[in-house]
Amino acid sequence: MKVLLVFAHPEPRSLNAALRDVAIKALEAEGHEVWVSDLYAERWKAQVDLGDFPELASEARLKVPAASGEGFAAGALTDDVKAEQDKLLWADVLILQFPLWWFSMPAILKGWVDRVFARGFAYGVGEHSDSKWGDRYGEGVFAGKRAMLVVTTGGWQQHYGPRGVNGPIDDLLFPINHGILFYPGYDVLPPFVVHSADRIKESGFEAIAEDLRERMRTLATTPPLAYRPQNGGDYLIPNCELRPGLGEPGASGFALHIRPAAAVVEVVVGDAQRAV
Ligand code: FAD
Repeated sequence: MKVLLVFAHPEPRSLNAALRDVAIKALEAEGHEVWVSDLYAERWKAQVDLGDFPELASEARLKVPAASGEGFAAGALTDDVKAEQDKLLWADVLILQFPLWWFSMPAILKGWVDRVFARGFAYGVGEHSDSKWGDRYGEGVFAGKRAMLVVTTGGWQQHYGPRGVNGPIDDLLFPINHGILFYPGYDVLPPFVVHSADRIKESGFEAIAEDLRERMRTLATTPPLAYRPQNGGDYLIPNCELRPGLGEPGASGFALHIRPAAAVVEVVVGDAQRAV
């Protein structure tokens, strides 16, 4: 397989960089081709601004979605953005690796998403009508490809547990896993998370590295998170609300958008539906 690893850490001697190198070696040992986008090393421009749209007049009022869509359709986005889009199209698997900063990704990586996931490429794709609301959440440019996060946190595992004060790690990563990766079509694998990363001693590194090697060895076979496809029958269209009867009664929030392991959704002719 072809793997694109997008790496966001400013320090080449960091724990993250050491784990990145472990992942690359493990992937190459499996015969995969690996391409790394090292955002700090490459001095990635993180902010979206007028300079991203060379065809817009300098006095034009910048409307980012429109400029992004027009630039993408005309092949007129900047070379750095086009190069990342080409890598994404090349890759069968995307890995985003970063330290958790303020409960999210470092700004440089968010800026990579903001600029590279252009309109017409990663969003605003497909028919939007009363019967279909775009190719997204399971459909889109990356359908059939896999994606995965490799994340380190300062907080303990318990801080991110079901009753932990930080909130569950799966909830914190939901906007990335579901909103950024599943949205344009990726099958999203469970994240590889290293907790209490600041306290790791050299002696503790090898055990973590071995767990990461195992995740790299099983990249092609690990079952993805069971996010509900938007256009698979679970949602009413066009309001994109989960159909009545699906999910636990009274439940809300992120977990609703994951199919329970045992649930089988039966689509009945005539638009009625029930979960069994
Ligand atoms: P490093 O500092 O590079 O290393 C961590 C430890 O690993 C060191 O003790 C190092 O000696 C050891 N180590 C062991 N083996 C190796 C090896 N082979 N190579 C290198 N190092 C090794 N945490 C949260 O939980 N939630 C947050 O919201 C959050 N927000 C943050 C916001 C900011 C702005 C910052 C700076 C930190 C934040 N943190 C947060 C903490 C952050 O997630 C951790 O500092 C980070 O994950 C540690 O990863 P690192 O690669 O930077 O570690």
